[in-house]
Amino acid sequence: MTKPRVVYWFRTDLRLHDSPALKAALDLEPDVLWPIFTWDPYYVYRARGGTNRWQFLSITKLNPKSKLFVLREAPQTLFPKLLKAWKVTHLVFEKDTDAYARQRDDVVAKAAKEAGVEVVIRSGRTLWDSDEIVAHHDGKPTMSMTQLLSAAKKVGQVPRPIAAPKGLPDPGDMPLDFEQHVPSNAPDVNAQAREKKDTAYKSIAGPKGDFAIETLEELGFPAATTPYRGGESIALKDLAEIIENKKYTATFEKPKTSPAQFEPQSTTLLSPFLHFGALSVREFYWRVQDVVEAYGKGASTPPASLTGQLIFRDMYFAAQAAVGAKFTQTAGNPYCRFIPWHLPSERDSQTGLVTDKYKVDSDDAEKWFQRWKRGVTGFPWIDALMRQLVHTGWMHHLGRHSVACFLTRGGCYVDWERGAEVFEVHLLDHEPACNAGNWQWLSCTAFFSQYFRCYSPVSFGQKWDKNGDLIRKWVPELKNLDSKYIYEPWKAPIQDQKKAGVRVVGDGLDDQEQGTYPKPMFDFGKRRETCINAMKIAYGVGLYGDDERVLDGSWREL
Ligand code: FAD
Repeated sequence: MTKPRVVYWFRTDLRLHDSPALKAALDLEPDVLWPIFTWDPYYVYRARGGTNRWQFLSITKLNPKSKLFVLREAPQTLFPKLLKAWKVTHLVFEKDTDAYARQRDDVVAKAAKEAGVEVVIRSGRTLWDSDEIVAHHDGKPTMSMTQLLSAAKKVGQVPRPIAAPKGLPDPGDMPLDFEQHVPSNAPDVNAQAREKKDTAYKSIAGPKGDFAIETLEELGFPAATTPYRGGESIALKDLAEIIENKKYTATFEKPKTSPAQFEPQSTTLLSPFLHFGALSVREFYWRVQDVVEAYGKGASTPPASLTGQLIFRDMYFAAQAAVGAKFTQTAGNPYCRFIPWHLPSERDSQTGLVTDKYKVDSDDAEKWFQRWKRGVTGFPWIDALMRQLVHTGWMHHLGRHSVACFLTRGGCYVDWERGAEVFEVHLLDHEPACNAGNWQWLSCTAFFSQYFRCYSPVSFGQKWDKNGDLIRKWVPELKNLDSKYIYEPWKAPIQDQKKAGVRVVGDGLDDQEQGTYPKPMFDFGKRRETCINAMKIAYGVGLYGDDERVLDGSWREL
């Protein structure tokens, strides 16, 4: 009998430690094993992904003990040729429950089976296999942590992590004398970049024939600005440093971590590593859980604790696994409440009749969206957070809360899907399930419904950062402004503006002058009232009389 000739297909599991799929590949005792990564045009050209995330991936290296061979072609067209040419007997990969990934993997698995190749798939991206969670939840999405934990109890304990293999068997020959499929949806960045990309695409093994990861330049992306670096070694080093601080690890309470803290941030910043699989979530979970158990009294518990954060992640993955491709949108998603965002005008909260009180037309909403996206809303707290996101690719969870609430039900009344698209471009940790799920939470369209709890773009930031250090860092126009005005610069008298070297004028769009900072794009108090009234109508409150706290206006400001 011929010994197994195995292709191990790395995707978002770029690690050697705790990889059940890699272990399954090695358990086959292969004669040869090819560790490959396919440079999928879907992610390069179709999915929204900014330069910072590509850089994080492009310098993501596997443990130096092994080489990763990057093959530049869509997996759906590459595998049928490659499996035949390399006489592969087994194709092994980690399970992925994202909508596109499921579709892609089905195509590849079908082609492999038709070619007589055995396909081995193992779960390793979440604490529990999301499909098993769904099966133990009557096929329904997990819409709360309680639901997730009750299904998880039936699945069993989170598996303990597996050690990294000492080494990988040598890869066999890699003949590439089959036809290259050049994707037709090449990026239209600019002619020069396209030319370079075409050269790169002439060879599946890359222009130098060394199976190297494509550079940002080859992709036509501008230089990255994020200070954060990817890779398994950095992930494990960062985790070790966190775990070493036993008190921080054991007593972590998310609501008490500051969204305004930076260098270092108040939470772990391990999310980008989890996204690319450079860090195993189960390794993270058990390293924390062991500290928690040894710490004893005084340790925090889910949902606020550090393990609670990982459980939230699993909750969104399982919700997506149940709903499928429609999870990331409102249309066709029965679990996402429809809200008529962008109301052309406002309705009277008692009668439901359209009035012209605080009239908003959709042009205004479009402008507000553009200003939010660029970090020029005139509300320094929101602008600082949005600029941090664009520059670094990361923002603290409560910062994400602030800007998401502000864009949707707590300010602009713009559709959450538009905000989620902006996050998709910029986040290093962009995860379709977590991004859509959290946007639904913040817009009160699923998971959470207390729409009367609104984040103020002024007092919420002040609670954490009286002096406005985060604002001074990311909105340098205001860096010399007195703390008294740093959250509301439009209130600063002209002489204080002059003293700080800034003038508060303009709308932040194209003709904003140097040395100025825009005026706020609306009266927040009025907008909040307008939005809450609109949400009441969307929820049928008043019509059905089911929420008195809203009717008497006793919503809580956060
Ligand atoms: P920590 O607080 O240190 O938490 C540890 C880990 O737990 C994180 O790395 C992350 O994997 C997980 N986690 C923590 N909070 C959440 C949560 N609420 N939902 C899911 N997982 C969580 N997280 C993503 O990983 N990808 C996204 O695309 C994403 N989009 C978001 C969009 C919005 C509007 C909001 C409000 C939150 C979003 N989050 C997303 C969740 C959360 O903000 C980030 O996971 C977290 O801020 C990452 O920083 P950290 O690693 O320091 O987190």
